[in-house]
Amino acid sequence: MSQLEHKTFEQKINRRDLIKLFGASVVAASGIFGASEKAFAKNAPNVVVLGGGVGGSSFAKYLRFANPDVKITLIEKHPEYITCFRSNDVIVGMHTLDELTFNHQVLQSKYKVNVLIDEVTGADFSKKTVKTAKGETLAYDKLVVSPGIDFKFADTEGFDAEVAAGKFPHAYKAGAKTLELRKQLINLPKGGTAIIAPPENPYRCPPGPYERASLFADYLKVHNPTAKLLVLDPKDRFTKDGPFKKAWERLYGFKTDNAMIEWVSGSEGGKVNRLDTKNMTVETDSGNHKADLINLIPNQRAGKLAQNLGLTNNSGWCPVDRNSMESLLHKEVYVLGDSTIADAMPKSGYSANSQAKVCAQAVSDTLQGNQLGKAVYANVCFSLAGENYGVSISAIYEVRDGLIQPKGGSAGVSPITDKAGLPILEATYQKNWQRNFVKDVFS
Ligand SMILES: Cc1cc2nc3c(=O)[nH]c(=O)nc-3n(C[C@H](O)[C@H](O)[C@H](O)COP(=O)(O)OP(=O)(O)OC[C@H]3O[C@@H](n4cnc5c(N)ncnc54)[C@H](O)[C@@H]3O)c2cc1C
Repeated sequence: MSQLEHKTFEQKINRRDLIKLFGASVVAASGIFGASEKAFAKNAPNVVVLGGGVGGSSFAKYLRFANPDVKITLIEKHPEYITCFRSNDVIVGMHTLDELTFNHQVLQSKYKVNVLIDEVTGADFSKKTVKTAKGETLAYDKLVVSPGIDFKFADTEGFDAEVAAGKFPHAYKAGAKTLELRKQLINLPKGGTAIIAPPENPYRCPPGPYERASLFADYLKVHNPTAKLLVLDPKDRFTKDGPFKKAWERLYGFKTDNAMIEWVSGSEGGKVNRLDTKNMTVETDSGNHKADLINLIPNQRAGKLAQNLGLTNNSGWCPVDRNSMESLLHKEVYVLGDSTIADAMPKSGYSANSQAKVCAQAVSDTLQGNQLGKAVYANVCFSLAGENYGVSISAIYEVRDGLIQPKGGSAGVSPITDKAGLPILEATYQKNWQRNFVKDVFS
């Protein structure tokens, strides 16, 4: 019998009995179904994962596939994870937040990952330890960091974390503020104006603001057809802009006198420089715009934890070895997901998951003294331009000339089409992707 098959008391006892005894949240948070120290060899390597979002959870699961003998501890500050993907749907009432909420119980029970609900406050790379808010100090042999993003509010005058926590939610991390933005959309006065201001590159989910704009228009078309949506962009191009704009023409009268969506590019003066919260106005390079709802999505940088641990460079993001995701600034520390500089790969959940798989193999190979392989990554970003209108972009990536780049001929974007069938099919792919993807990450 392998050490992993040797069941501990906690693994033998009926889960329902434990929940009866301690309550579900205590059982979930305690790590009681986690990998017991006894199940692993004393000298088994310790891999500690910081952040239990897409990158961290995928990594923990796939490292277990690659290596049954390693101890894996995942530290996540929230007991539940709400996916950002499909959170735009929640704003317009196509999904509930509950449907986007997951936890790490399967990682614990099935994949023997010791999950700690705690906030990581620091690390000592020379001693190879991390510290948490609850006072734990954990030793690691390999450290993996996937903390998501942080916001650069200061780039827009008049905007800060407090303003965003109040009446101007960016809702670019899913949660209570997603529902607040929903409320604002529902309460938009008849014939009112909403503004969405996307951030500068690079940022989490490049199509996210344009999907949001599309779904706002989709909602308003039915519930408030004389309302207007103004997209104030600091950029001249955006991902999938061809198929998105075609969809806007087909669905929302884009570029006509009755257009529901107007898009102002960077060179037309779309960049928002100042938010005037009192007068519900934004100041742009081309003038002031007053609105009833203002959704500014701030510029971004690597998650605070990555910044605090010294894993970022001057760009605000984390440089990594493209074949392993090992930090170029600190050995034995790996960074995944949105926080990284991954060249042509967008900051998406799909990318974070793909990077996690490459990294899991690299960590396992390194621990076993194997030579590292060459990385291959994949990404598909599906978006809804309307409830039944999907657009997508995809590519397979390789490391070429030291950069992550699309492999010849693999990259593709939805065609710009007037046909009915394909966008409907892509909307179906989108919905199925979500269902499959969360299973790959959390179960
Ligand atoms: C509106 C919107 C729509 C999107 N749609 C899609 C889509 O359709 N497809 C797609 O692929 N991607 C989509 N994304 C992007 C996707 O959500 C992110 O790219 C993905 O979550 C990145 O994974 P990550 O691991 O880097 O970060 P996250 O998933 O954000 O995980 C970071 C985790 O680290 C934890 N953490 C941070 N600091 C600490 C600390 N100090 N201690 C402990 N834990 C900590 C956080 O609590 C969090 O759980 C969308 C994003 C948005 C905003």
